[in-house]
Amino acid sequence: MIGTAGTTNTGAIDDLTAIADLCEREGIWFHVDGCIGGVLRLAPDHAHLVAGIERAGSVAIDPHKWLHTPFEAGAVLIKDPEAHFATFEMHGPYLQLQERGMIAGKFLADYGLELSRGFRALKIWMAFKEQGSAKFGRLIAKDIGLARYMAGKIEADSLLELFAPVDLNIVCFRHVAADEDASRVLNTEIMLRLQERGLAVPLDTTVQGKHGLRCAFNNHRTRREDIDGFLDDVLHIAKEIIAEQAS
Ligand SMILES: *Cc1c(COP(=O)(O)O)cnc(C)c1O
Repeated sequence: MIGTAGTTNTGAIDDLTAIADLCEREGIWFHVDGCIGGVLRLAPDHAHLVAGIERAGSVAIDPHKWLHTPFEAGAVLIKDPEAHFATFEMHGPYLQLQERGMIAGKFLADYGLELSRGFRALKIWMAFKEQGSAKFGRLIAKDIGLARYMAGKIEADSLLELFAPVDLNIVCFRHVAADEDASRVLNTEIMLRLQERGLAVPLDTTVQGKHGLRCAFNNHRTRREDIDGFLDDVLHIAKEIIAEQAS
């Protein structure tokens, strides 16, 4: 059974403890899609959001998201090394392990499907060695703080609205319009003008039938001033479009 520690679209998190209880009771493997939130434990103030993740048999994480690793670096952590190796270990006559020498120990190939694989683990390991895990925790907390800051500004502005709860580092919002169809037209045009003018690159999404813009905070350079400027640009462009529509 798979629980999600932060969905891609909105950052929503499953009740991982409840899923862990169910899996334990029924004897089911518990996997967590932690591509975004699997690393939340590094940020002490937010670790509680993924309570129960430690009971998973496996957790997928995407270091190229919240660990700032250059593309690409998908990874999975597996609790039971024997089950892990029993799944992938395969030694042809040309790949026999020895007690000593060059091929003593574990083959990297025995950890997964690939044989002549890219050594992605190195760049992740080096980043931890160089920066330390606490720093990644601080960056995660900063991104969540920025998302909350942006959500606060949106809630305080009667021309803007959130169309999904802000649980993590993802903000789904839109400029208000007369109805859902008008909203889609207006907000798509806002997005395209922001992109074409080189101001910002939000994308759009739809959550339970509501369409709007989606911002995911992931960049260590983003500051509150960037959000202030971005929302000013959104309001300015919206005004422009509404004026055009009226004329
Ligand atoms: C990003 C993501 C994935 C996988 O995306 P890749 O970029 O292909 O690694 C899976 N699940 C969630 C929740 C994600 O956010």
